[in-house]
This record gives sequence, C-alpha cells and structure tokens, in this order.
Amino acid sequence: MKTEDTSRRKRQGRTNWTRLRILLNKAKMLKEFTLLTENRHQLVDITNKVEKIVKESKIKDGLVLIFTPHSTAGILLTENESGLKQDFLKIFEKIVSGLDFLHNRIDDNADSHILSGLVGQGKTLPIENGRIIRGTWQQIFLTEFDGPRTRKIIVKVIK
Ligand code: ZN
Repeated sequence: MKTEDTSRRKRQGRTNWTRLRILLNKAKMLKEFTLLTENRHQLVDITNKVEKIVKESKIKDGLVLIFTPHSTAGILLTENESGLKQDFLKIFEKIVSGLDFLHNRIDDNADSHILSGLVGQGKTLPIENGRIIRGTWQQIFLTEFDGPRTRKIIVKVIK
C-alpha cells in the first residue's frame, strides 16, 4: 500500500515536472514587444526585432507567427524603401477617402479598422536552419492606422 502510494506519487511528480517543462518551453517561444508610433498612418520596420526573437528561440525548423492584437494596425511584408513606403501611405489614404463611414457615429476611426482588416493583423513565415525564409525585399512592418499609439507585437515561434 505504502510503496504503491510512493511510486504513484513519484510518477505523478515526474508527470507534473514534464508538464511544467513543456509549459516553460512553450512560454519561451512566445515573446512580445511594444513600440510607440509617431503618425496617424505609418510603416514601422520590425524585421530585426522579429529575427532576434527567432534566433533566441533556438528553433531551427518551424514557423513564426507575427501578430498584432489591435484592430487598427496591421502586419505587412514589403520592401523597406522610402518611396514605396510613401506610396503605401498614399494608397491607404485613397482607399478610405471621401467615404461616409457608419462606425464614425460612435468612434472616429472607421478608416483605421478597415485598413487594418485589409492589410491583416498577422503573418506566418517559415523558419529553416534557424532563419526566417523571406525574400530580399520582404521586410516585416507594423502598419499603424490610428496613431500615434503604443502597439504590441506578439511573436510566436512553433517547432
Ligand atoms: Zn473604432
């Protein structure tokens, strides 16, 4: 009786320890950072920050999810070239200009929600040999549509 209890407790202890280790490992693979935007509409290059997190995760093959938990911001992949960034801002303005938005009756940012929805609030990229696979002209941007604000970016690395 006594020995059975002891061994069960031992087994349970091991199971709990294993579970805890799995949880800790999972926790390590989820990182977040914040940044402060300066303009109402803005593109902020976050490639270096995301790549640093992937490197620190030590995951060699897997996926990385870059997600922003906001409905007035987005995650975009494009070239970090000043002309192109201005072109994006121009097209964002054009998409939402001259329209009478119903949401503005309760909150003055329908355009921000719409642009965020169109760009999307997350991207998933492959990781191989410890590096994110992306094209030379594919930098990772946070797109601000209702700034200036503090924005959170969640980076989840999955094996
Ligand atoms: Zn709103």
